[in-house]
Amino acid sequence: MPPSPLSLDRREIGRHVGAAPGPSVVAVAGVHGNEPAGIEAARRVFARLERGDVAVRGELVVFAGNVASLRRGVRYETKDLNRQWSEARVAALRAQGWAAVDAEDREQVELLGAIEAALGRARGAVTLADLHTSSAAGVPFILFGDTLAQRRFVGAFPLPVIIGLEEQVDGALTEYWTRRGCVTFTVEGGQHDDPASVDSLEAVLWIALSEAGVIDGAALPEVRDGYAALDARRGDLPRVLEVVSRRAITAEDTFQMEPGFRNIARARAGQLLARDRRGEIVAPHDGLVILPLYQGLGSDGFFWGREVSAGRLRASRVLRALGVDRLLALLPGVARDPRTPSRFVVDTQVARLFPLEVFHLFGYRRVRERGGKLTVERQLD
Ligand SMILES: [Zn+2]
Repeated sequence: MPPSPLSLDRREIGRHVGAAPGPSVVAVAGVHGNEPAGIEAARRVFARLERGDVAVRGELVVFAGNVASLRRGVRYETKDLNRQWSEARVAALRAQGWAAVDAEDREQVELLGAIEAALGRARGAVTLADLHTSSAAGVPFILFGDTLAQRRFVGAFPLPVIIGLEEQVDGALTEYWTRRGCVTFTVEGGQHDDPASVDSLEAVLWIALSEAGVIDGAALPEVRDGYAALDARRGDLPRVLEVVSRRAITAEDTFQMEPGFRNIARARAGQLLARDRRGEIVAPHDGLVILPLYQGLGSDGFFWGREVSAGRLRASRVLRALGVDRLLALLPGVARDPRTPSRFVVDTQVARLFPLEVFHLFGYRRVRERGGKLTVERQLD
């Protein structure tokens, strides 16, 4: 059943400005037009704040992402608005004088202007949240670019937070605003038309307001109840997990996921996960299946992940703060990209000598093939 089209008269869903200066929380809801739950969640938060008994410092503002598609209840018109935020793409829009070629260009130019205006009037640090829902059932979770500031922020949510998933895609909205100095994260709130998804996204907004310092969460039942509700929804899944590898597939692989996996699911060593034309795909160790592909076409069969212990998180934080990643250039066949200091170029012939995971420890999680070379890149702390 398609979601019912949304009644939406403008991009700005609401803005609540505190009397005292302070941080800003900017949220985007419905960057995919078939995901209106975040807009409903935001409307509830604004209705509560309008009662006037919650002290607010700084500002909360929420924007609808893809307004035209939200009105029609479709994901997008011509292209995915959450894949258009590379520097090159935004520079191309700027070069054509912000003239829109298609519907998503129009949405992007407007949204860019709206967020830049919010950053312009900010009186403190800015946190940007991107609110989504998904077609598959499962526990809400958070993904984010692996910078230390963003790790710290998302660590407060009692949901599974997945390190290394945002880096699997190019051109995500949050990544663009991380480069502009915001602390950003993306939340998948649950299934598109499940009323519980609105509840979860509302809880995420309350906790974000509290963690950012816009409201004093200790005094507010909505924040306390939000923590409890999300913690209960997480069940026995870990708080922090990381993507170890991606199962890339093509149509010729005839990839078929085994039934029964939720969007994040534990798997035992040797368990059958999927089949393709070469045979069975089994779990290499005990670990986690993330975002299994069940419907439609895609190039990601699933992601393979594992739980990250508090000790490992602490170790990587310390190593990164010390700048030990400079030493990675001493590995055989590894050189820092002279034009992009946040990127290493790895000779694929010698990359077999050590696991790419050594880069993960330092936040280098974006692995790409570029002109026959392998590059690993991180977002800047
Ligand atoms: Zn989405």
